[in-house]
Amino acid sequence: MSPQPGFSRESALVHAGTQRLPGAALAPPLVPASTYVSWGEPAPARGYGRHGNPGWEALEQAIGAIEEANAVAFASGQAAATALMLALASGRKRIVLPDDGYYNIRVLADRLRPHGAEPVAVDLLDLAAVEQALAVAPAVLWAETPTNPLLRVADLARLGKLAAAAGAPMVVDNTVATGLLQQPLELGAVASLYSLTKAASGHSDLLLGAVVSRDPALLADVRGWRASGGAIPGPFDAWLALRGLKTLPLRIARQCENAAALAAHLAAQPRVRSVHYPGTDPATGALAGRQMPGGYGPLLSFELDGGAAAADAVIAASRLIVPSTSFGGVESTWERRARWPGETAPGSLIRLSAGIEPAADLIADIDASLAAA
Ligand code: PLP
Repeated sequence: MSPQPGFSRESALVHAGTQRLPGAALAPPLVPASTYVSWGEPAPARGYGRHGNPGWEALEQAIGAIEEANAVAFASGQAAATALMLALASGRKRIVLPDDGYYNIRVLADRLRPHGAEPVAVDLLDLAAVEQALAVAPAVLWAETPTNPLLRVADLARLGKLAAAAGAPMVVDNTVATGLLQQPLELGAVASLYSLTKAASGHSDLLLGAVVSRDPALLADVRGWRASGGAIPGPFDAWLALRGLKTLPLRIARQCENAAALAAHLAAQPRVRSVHYPGTDPATGALAGRQMPGGYGPLLSFELDGGAAAADAVIAASRLIVPSTSFGGVESTWERRARWPGETAPGSLIRLSAGIEPAADLIADIDASLAAA
């Protein structure tokens, strides 16, 4: 919840972890601790370092404040997803998840199959298919929108209603949009899942994740999985992430502007066969406008004539946009997505993460790369 009730979530992000005591350091302190001084009855979060750290708690305050909820931070997005899946799959028959979402979430669900729920991949834009998949109850609906890397936008309000009718908790992987652009808990989700590795922390220097929810029982369960599984955030990573979060509203606004400009520019290039960006999709653009009122995020993807070889050549020719995986950092990056085994994206698809450089520089780099390759 907000450390400053009555003020905006942007202010909550700036002030999370700040002590207002005379003499306290203004910047939240880094507390590297495997254990704490304690005798007698141990304090729950200050006994052993696997159970609590002031830096995680400040980070959780900030992440939770974005969605007026509470958060549990993890060592990575995958670690957060593992705990949440374990907590929700128990006693349920199915995990219904998108067939075009982040491929490692499908891999994770497959690995957890022996522990209970069967993963069923569907097109989340096909509401009849989702309803049918949820009919094998009890199930979990694990949504992701916009999806990575095709940036397809699913209708969360309608998915939330289908999930409620089927008695299925809905999770939304909100990594691409962040809670500043999209609020899944307002649209029927029981939890939002984040890789904080991406735009939330924003500086390509750490891996972290979080589960955000307003359901205390679910949060307690997820926290229990963290304590027993041990996938805890490192204190330094949590400190860096909190520092990054302070500027998330500024960064994401610039990244949305840049991504929209690049999507429009790429769409006008003769060698570009298609551009995927939530705001410009003819079928779901209007839905994206309602569901993501603050902007469409830093991520876009496009397909080139000439297949994988042409895409590799364009990426190799760039002088500014960095060839790299991951996304959401202040530096613009791109990669041919299908180079990863397990990824199902089309062979020539390039995923581009817009950073905060001036758009004109990015456009000049793209034009020169397309011309050189
Ligand atoms: N969810 C999405 C949509 C992602 O793109 C990623 C990573 O790329 C993850 C979850 C996993 O996050 P992490 O890499 O921090 O484990």
